[in-house]
Amino acid sequence: MFEKVLIANRGEIALRIQRACRELGIKTVAVHSEADREAKYVKLADESVCIGPAPSSQSYLNIPAVISAAEVTDAEAIHPGYGFLSENADFAERVEQSGFVFIGPRAETIRLMGDKVSAKDAMRAAGVPCVPGSEGALPDDPDAVLQIAKEIGYPVIIKAAGGGGGRGMRVVHTEAALLNSVSMTKAEAGAAFGNPTVYMEKFLEQPRHIEIQVLSDEHGNAVYLGERDCSMQRRHQKVLEEAPAPGITQKMREKIGERCADACRRINYRGAGTFEFLYENGEFYFIEMNTRVQVEHPVTEMITGIDIVQQQILIAAGEKLSFKQSDIVLRGHAIECRINAEDPYNFVPSPGRINTFHMPGGPGIRVDTHAYQNYLVPPHYDSMIGKLIAYGDTRQQAIARMRIALSEMVVEGIKTNVPLHSDLMNDAAFHLGETSIHYLEHKLGISSK
Ligand code: ADP
Repeated sequence: MFEKVLIANRGEIALRIQRACRELGIKTVAVHSEADREAKYVKLADESVCIGPAPSSQSYLNIPAVISAAEVTDAEAIHPGYGFLSENADFAERVEQSGFVFIGPRAETIRLMGDKVSAKDAMRAAGVPCVPGSEGALPDDPDAVLQIAKEIGYPVIIKAAGGGGGRGMRVVHTEAALLNSVSMTKAEAGAAFGNPTVYMEKFLEQPRHIEIQVLSDEHGNAVYLGERDCSMQRRHQKVLEEAPAPGITQKMREKIGERCADACRRINYRGAGTFEFLYENGEFYFIEMNTRVQVEHPVTEMITGIDIVQQQILIAAGEKLSFKQSDIVLRGHAIECRINAEDPYNFVPSPGRINTFHMPGGPGIRVDTHAYQNYLVPPHYDSMIGKLIAYGDTRQQAIARMRIALSEMVVEGIKTNVPLHSDLMNDAAFHLGETSIHYLEHKLGISSK
């Protein structure tokens, strides 16, 4: 096992990874920007290194600075967390070339999955069901593009191969608008992602977002840890997640889960990963794979009892998975609310000093946060300041516990989206479950198209 791991991230996930390391008896190195000098996980780490000024381009995204920090502290492995460098294949490559272990998949896997066209091709070849669409990238010939859309049937969605974070997508409802939309998406994708390649998919009207968590070791063992429902979204960004997904039977779970585990074996996947699907009319359609730990991993941990971050570290250290698929039993229900420093209704970020901070507790409540009383939420990064997770024997109990936990939570000095989550806990459609990816925006009166 590693003696020392460097955590190349910030915020709640930096603390989460640190806790996993500590439980495994591993020392930790925190790297931080000048803006995060006072952060809790920096103080709690065994060592810390300032890697640059506040803007992430000069600190958390600065590859040479992160690698130098690993060198000066003699760390053996680097955990990238989520966001920042976590899905940067060049970073994974540089880490390994510099003699450190990258806690994640091989660089070539990250590269394969980072391009959504090659990811879909690989998944199709591995027997994973995909959204009907163009076979690979769209050709330059306008007649061919029109023909592809005709075969798929309108509405279609044009997506950037290099897109991410809910950006680089355009829905097209009519043939008249197609060619113009394709050229606009191409131009935007080239500017935003440095890659103008686009592809086309059938635009599903009322899908749910359901994803499968997998773990795969270097010895050919792969398992799935069930699914999560992340349909509660705003601007294609997840707001609340739960596991298991309402209405998904054990039989459906096994069928799609086996497909994902099998795909991991075929592509020689290493580490934790997530297969994201749109789910409509009883069918799963693959959209992309995330080759890293996800924000919403705790809901799966709560219902499986498996620590996903520890598993990432064990797999990176070359260990074999210590359990088989048949050992994994889903028990109960878990819900996660992302707590953001933002206005609950217009979503404008609200950084600043937290002057009162009381976290909830009680049976089944888990709080993953790096914030504390007097913490200054910096304006430079993502607005998420923590996650509140509620577990119950049933979905109903998890909702009841979440409602109580939200009512106990006090965060003053900044605005948070706690009122929005409290509202959702009393929402009739949410109680019924199985809402589509458009539900939240409709509820908020925002048009998603
Ligand atoms: P990103 O990498 O930017 O998150 P994804 O491919 O994962 O992009 O898609 C993000 C979200 O966009 C999905 O959760 C869904 O809300 C919407 N979306 C993507 N593809 C389609 C599609 N074919 N039909 C309908 N909605 C889609």
